[in-house]
Formats: sequence, structure tokens, C-alpha cells
Amino acid sequence: MEKWRYNVELPARGTGKKKMPSNQKGIVFCSSCRSAYYKKSWHHAAPAERLKLKIHNPRPVFCPACQMIKDKEFEGQLIISNFPLVLEADLNKLIKNFCQRAFERDPLHRLIDIKSDSGNLTATTTENQLAVKLAKKIKEVFGKNKVQVKISYSPSPSDAVYIKINFVQ
Ligand SMILES: [Zn+2]
Repeated sequence: MEKWRYNVELPARGTGKKKMPSNQKGIVFCSSCRSAYYKKSWHHAAPAERLKLKIHNPRPVFCPACQMIKDKEFEGQLIISNFPLVLEADLNKLIKNFCQRAFERDPLHRLIDIKSDSGNLTATTTENQLAVKLAKKIKEVFGKNKVQVKISYSPSPSDAVYIKINFVQ
């Protein structure tokens, strides 16, 4: 199978800054994904660091991405509609690979889920700018004239972004 590779140039947003665990000193590990919190943001932990997890966390701690998934929340939602069915597998692949690249750069930037329902695809992400970049990538890959993108941000203080992607046939 062809491996899709996309360069995700995400802006340096402070996802880790605004959602740091309180009263924690030293390195803290997420009890679910084993990401590590230090220097005021979350990082991928090296395998050796992950082993220390059980010793150092006095109680379960979840990184903002895992907490969001546990709470069944999301920060970005894309609903893709009206696409030719023959493109569904390619759309799925693009979304998964794009989000995987983002995750490799920042453990808090993740695809939560993709659902297929009545000819629509709904993808949710843990980070709003990831969803915006993903929408732009879909437009770029599947044709600027064939794909309409409508982006709506939730009113403050929510960070959620809702994106509708419509294929013009
Ligand atoms: Zn986590």
C-alpha cells in the first residue's frame, strides 16, 4: 500500500501551556498514552522514561489529549459530504496519515475518530488548527474547484472549530 506523507506545519500554539496539570513537579507521565510533561509542555516520552511512570505518578494523570478523549470532547470536527464513494478510502487514508504526522510532532495533536454515516465522513481531532490544516490539505489534494470548505469557530471561551467540506459534483 502506498504510504501518504504530508508535511504538517502547525503553528506553535500553546495547547500544553493552557492545560498543564496543577501542582506537578519534575516529569509527569500521562497514565494513558505515556506522553511526558516537562518544561511546561507535553512531549513524546522516550521508552526509558516511560518505564519510570509507575514510580513517579502518585495518582493517574492524563495529558489534555487523553483527557479530551476520555470526556468525549473534541477541538476540531470535519464533516465531509457529497464526495464520490470511490474517494472514501483515499479520504480516510489522507486523514489518518496527516494526523499521524501531526501526532509525531506533538503528542497532543491527534485524530480522535473517523465515522462513516449516510455518505458523510466525520473526523474529530484534539486540536483545532490540526482540523483547519487538514481541511486545507483535503482541498489541495482533491481539487480546489471541487471542494468547498466552510470553517466556523465556536464562540469564546471554547476553542472548538467546526468545518464543513462539501464536494461539488
Ligand atoms: Zn495522554
